[in-house]
Amino acid sequence: MYIHAIQMRGSTRPVEASFPQPAMEGTEGRHKPIRITAILRREDDRYGFAGHLATSVGLACALCNTVFRQVVELDFSLRYRPAGSTQLSTATLPEVHELTPGECDVEQLDDQGRIDLISFSRDQIYLALPLQPRCRENCRGLCSQCGTDLNTATCACAIRPPDPRLAALAELRKRF
Ligand SMILES: [Zn+2]
Ligand SMILES: [Zn+2]
Repeated sequence: MYIHAIQMRGSTRPVEASFPQPAMEGTEGRHKPIRITAILRREDDRYGFAGHLATSVGLACALCNTVFRQVVELDFSLRYRPAGSTQLSTATLPEVHELTPGECDVEQLDDQGRIDLISFSRDQIYLALPLQPRCRENCRGLCSQCGTDLNTATCACAIRPPDPRLAALAELRKRF
């Protein structure tokens, strides 16, 4: 799945793509194809690639280990330069040159002048995934003692032993 940037005619080109999700480490199963709606724009020797990516991936909850579907909807805006071109030639820069964020992260087209949508999507999705996935906002996790999933069951460990101070009080009451 490639976009040929260097061969594009005119200065802008709409990109509509839908393709199966590639295998991604750390995810469970492949839920939905990836959909990309974007505009590729030529800017001198650079290419702006901006738009929207939508899909969903299976993740294991960090608390209860249940696999759930995480919807991924993200906007992106990247710049590309042809392979082999130097990102910034320091020889031609004035002595004081502050890098703008855009200059720091210019991606590189492959040696045929293309954007590989598969690896592009994989990178974007990884950046968007939560570090601590939660199957639901108020996931109760697993019991730390017996491993019961507390979202679906209760276990005996959850019943606290009686407060020893109250037990002492009850003992006193018995005596009087
Ligand atoms: Zn959970
Ligand atoms: Zn338990």
